[in-house]
Amino acid sequence: MTSHRNETEKLRIAYRTCPFCEATCGLEIALQDGRAVTVKGDKDDVFSKGYLCPKGAALADLHYDPDRLRHPLIKRNGHWVEVGWDEAFAAVESGLIPLMDTYGRDTVGVYAGNPCSHTMAGALCLRPLFKALRSRNIFSASTVDQMPKHVSSGLMFGHPGTIPVPDIDRTHFLLILGADPMESNGSLATAPDWPGRLRALKRRGGKLVVVDPRASRTAKLAHEHLRIKPGGDPFLLMALTWVLFEEDRVNPGRLSDHIIGLDAVRDLCRPFSPEAVERRSGIDPSIVYRTARELASAPSAAVYGRMGTSTVEFGALNQWLIDMVNILTGNLDRPGGAMFPSPAHMPRRNRPGGKGWTLGRWKSRVKGLHEVMGELPVCTLCDEIETPGEGQVRALITVASNPVIALPNSARVDRALAGLDFMVSVDFYLNASTRHAHVILPPTGPLSTSQYDFSFYNLSVRNIANYSPPVIPKPNDEMDKWEILYRLAMIFSGQGASANAAQMDDFIIRMMVDGLAEKEGSPLFGKQTEILQAMKDLRGPDRMLDLMLRTGAYGDGFGLNHGGLSLSRLKEHPHGMDLGPLEPRIPGILRTTSGKIDLAPHPMVQDVQRLIEVINRPEPSSLVLVGRRHLRTNNSWMANISSLVSGPPRCVLLVHPEDASRLGLEGGAAVEVKSRVGRIAVPVEITTDIRPGVVSLPHGWGHDLTGVRMGVAMTHGGVNSNILSDDECFDPLSNNAVLNGIPVEVSA
Ligand code: SF4
Repeated sequence: MTSHRNETEKLRIAYRTCPFCEATCGLEIALQDGRAVTVKGDKDDVFSKGYLCPKGAALADLHYDPDRLRHPLIKRNGHWVEVGWDEAFAAVESGLIPLMDTYGRDTVGVYAGNPCSHTMAGALCLRPLFKALRSRNIFSASTVDQMPKHVSSGLMFGHPGTIPVPDIDRTHFLLILGADPMESNGSLATAPDWPGRLRALKRRGGKLVVVDPRASRTAKLAHEHLRIKPGGDPFLLMALTWVLFEEDRVNPGRLSDHIIGLDAVRDLCRPFSPEAVERRSGIDPSIVYRTARELASAPSAAVYGRMGTSTVEFGALNQWLIDMVNILTGNLDRPGGAMFPSPAHMPRRNRPGGKGWTLGRWKSRVKGLHEVMGELPVCTLCDEIETPGEGQVRALITVASNPVIALPNSARVDRALAGLDFMVSVDFYLNASTRHAHVILPPTGPLSTSQYDFSFYNLSVRNIANYSPPVIPKPNDEMDKWEILYRLAMIFSGQGASANAAQMDDFIIRMMVDGLAEKEGSPLFGKQTEILQAMKDLRGPDRMLDLMLRTGAYGDGFGLNHGGLSLSRLKEHPHGMDLGPLEPRIPGILRTTSGKIDLAPHPMVQDVQRLIEVINRPEPSSLVLVGRRHLRTNNSWMANISSLVSGPPRCVLLVHPEDASRLGLEGGAAVEVKSRVGRIAVPVEITTDIRPGVVSLPHGWGHDLTGVRMGVAMTHGGVNSNILSDDECFDPLSNNAVLNGIPVEVSA
């Protein structure tokens, strides 16, 4: 049971995993007469042990937000009209199908936002929609975020989802680049209570070093803060690699038998001595030598990098180098180093080798940018919308996203969306982007849907499984996101607007079961009927989860492994199941054609040449802009919760006193910030926290646009930092947008 009742007081306690960030904290929700009244940290949660941040405590505020849409909207003559679901899907069909019939399937694009990773439907049901749509114009928040890591993992390990995470609970030395987990609570490394875990690292005698142009909260906690120049990370990482080779400290340990390309790496790093790159990194060579030695000699060490190393012009190279340093120091795939989780919903592979991984299977129409993981980069979305010709994107489906706030050169994105022939949004807010839609399909609220973190258990610092059923029953006139996505998919597969999502659900589970039961030699061979019968009471993502758990690493194998995991067994553990610490997984996890870690994949080798070409690039004459995170926000999607956006203004530009004095800026006064693509006005905070020559602005603000219906967000508008970021600037290997290191001019 996941809740218990006291009938007299009509009080009920329910437990639920927080869906607001990657940390997956357990929440304890008190309900009075069926309404959630308080949200606290669940002290019995096996992973978070009671920790929560202000965002988690505001979960009920989002659920009950009066601005959250409950029913579909259709825009008629410029006015929004609330309609029933059948009418809304009929409007989608009549808006999109004629366009597809006339201009082809690529004329409909999709943009899926970051919250998709935080729901079961987003993780499982978007793929069927893409398959039914058969458009090449698929875009997602991945190319304003973590795509460089996928590219690096795909090329090195043979699969873009094979991402090592720092074993922060056991490491003796943690080197963090471009991340502020004291504020963000971690990303691509799932761990509730990063602050507590970092303090524990220090208490047990470990060392914490942070590389960041700004004295972030994490940098202030660290033993050492290396105040790097924006964009300096690949030079620092190359220099660390150089020292490891130069001082004969390369020792991959157990991995020596599982790597290829070591000599090539030795050659590639030759131009990058600490002295040669000091001007670009801003880091004293003596510190680079010492850090390399400490990494090599620590009983265990992990290098970890996030947004500041990803949303930059050498994002993929940075991610490759982070894993490289972990490998060369013998710290990949060992306790205390960087390790690979074994999530409960995935089978454990024991045999190395596979088909390998490629990128660039097709290219974007206008700029010829290559696809990665089946999607095109967001920095070319506007090109595809605005440029006439065959394959032009004339219609867009957005899912849980706000591209007008999230994408570079936002003003252009705003204009491009306004010019679409038709737009459909799966979203429960009328926000800066969905205001351009013709139909809005709002999924039910966050307390009325089940939760299991498919994405984040792949990235977890312990192997954890936790399932939360809906806390509050879904009202009959609302739809779960999986039902909405399936009904859209059925429109594109020709079954019409009135088709029932249950048919699609049955079809997909049948395909999944067939895939397992038709494999010769599998213990489940020929058992389709028994498997489907065993799951007969489940539907939607819950049924898919059950199948994945039962055939996963700890599963019951539908009776083959007595006592193994299933959804019903997981439900018996409302505080989650701790499946143990991470364990070494190499070589079984490797899917390269060689079955080895490819240390020098050709695209990376080529990209090193690009880095060599800019070693001597002159310093920018202007200031450069970097972003920052805050504990109370996660991108733009909690901006309408009063408790999270009230208080002193946080959307301020950080400027170093030397720069402020040179430019005649006064603290608290509004300044103009101008980049190649846009200009904004924003208040200034003068602080020595930021490196001279660098200014910092948080992202996810700027909601006060005409047509938005988010009362709280509009009154705490702030400014949108992406008005300044440039859609012409991207990392050409991953095609990830550059959101850090943007040249700007600041004037009083
Ligand atoms: S840290 Fe993340 S998962 Fe935990 S309560 Fe805060 S938002 Fe939720």
